[in-house]
Amino acid sequence: MLYDNHCRYLPVFFPVFFFVGGGYTGAMPSYFIFAVVFTVFMLEGIKALVVTAAELVVYVGLCLFAWQNPGTVTTLPTDQAIMIDNIAGFTIVSIVLGITIFLHFRLYNWQQRDLVNAREEALRFSEAKSRFLANMSHEIRTPINVMLGKNELILRESDSEQVREYSRGVQSAGDTLLTLVSNVLDMSKIEQGRFDITAEPYKTAKLIDDLTAIGKEYTARHGLAFHTQIDEALPCVLKGDFLCIKQVAANFLSNAAKYTSEGGVTLSLSGTEGAAEDEILLRIAVSDTGMGIKPETLPVIFDAFVRADMPGRAHIEGTGLGLAIAREFAELMGGGIFVESTWNAGSIFSLEVPQKVADGRHGSPGPADFGREPAGNRRGA
Ligand code: ADP
Repeated sequence: MLYDNHCRYLPVFFPVFFFVGGGYTGAMPSYFIFAVVFTVFMLEGIKALVVTAAELVVYVGLCLFAWQNPGTVTTLPTDQAIMIDNIAGFTIVSIVLGITIFLHFRLYNWQQRDLVNAREEALRFSEAKSRFLANMSHEIRTPINVMLGKNELILRESDSEQVREYSRGVQSAGDTLLTLVSNVLDMSKIEQGRFDITAEPYKTAKLIDDLTAIGKEYTARHGLAFHTQIDEALPCVLKGDFLCIKQVAANFLSNAAKYTSEGGVTLSLSGTEGAAEDEILLRIAVSDTGMGIKPETLPVIFDAFVRADMPGRAHIEGTGLGLAIAREFAELMGGGIFVESTWNAGSIFSLEVPQKVADGRHGSPGPADFGREPAGNRRGA
């Protein structure tokens, strides 16, 4: 600010010194260079440009004026005085500029060091936060699972309809809490780079069965129709991360059911040629006839904790983490997520991932039990 004010007056004071200091024959050219460099150092952006341009115009104008009207300039008496004035001006300007540049770089280095320290500290805090969240989420999931298990027993064994009604309430709230905690755990693992993608053989039929069961369950809860479109040409055994793919598709199905009040949900699975000979590009798409997403909101729906178009859907439970995790998983598997949506008409969310073909035949692959859920779902790891 102080420099701003000083620099603003440079074009005013400069002419005075110019006429009393010998015009362009003395040390004025050195002082002019100093003024320009000083301005560039002390001001920023457009201000620096404007003041520098003003200084240039003033200096050129003064030189022309002094050349046309030599009588207006108090010239130095002798050649020796001019030489001494030049040497003195040059020396003073060199020293002051040298000190200014030195201080400027020292300041820059100090600021850089502070920035690096602040960044490292922020990273340490962020890692500690992610570790804390991961540990807490992991610890919280155990008692929730116990509570849900006991609640399941009450649901099954109680003769009282009233008690079973309460128990269903506990189940619904417990499921939501478990999803929330699992999402936070996944997100913190992703942030810490601790999520490893596996490549195990799995039966395509198992993936289709599991997703169909999930789709049926979600849509039944909301009184919606459920359809499937399966590409019969899909190879019977693929190699990839079964659980990851299932989690992404389950999130699409859950959202499709949540954000659709009338109509239905369709699950499609298909495959196209992959980049390598023993690879296919597996495409899992979930379309719905629901609320859709406004075009201006589409770019943010994959951001963590972002819930889009909230007016009108505030009653729908959610954390805004599902799609963020889905996108991370898709990218970790070397694939991507795509969305098409029409406001008030419906959406299509699709996952495309490259999968190795472990058995290219169609139909049942035989007795080998691929794609079994590992004991203790990986999310619990
Ligand atoms: P949430 O827990 O809020 O469902 P997601 O990350 O799964 O979080 O989704 C982010 C947002 O994207 C949602 O809040 C919702 O507004 C929008 N969205 C996701 N899927 C659909 C869909 N099938 N139809 C309409 N909106 C959707």
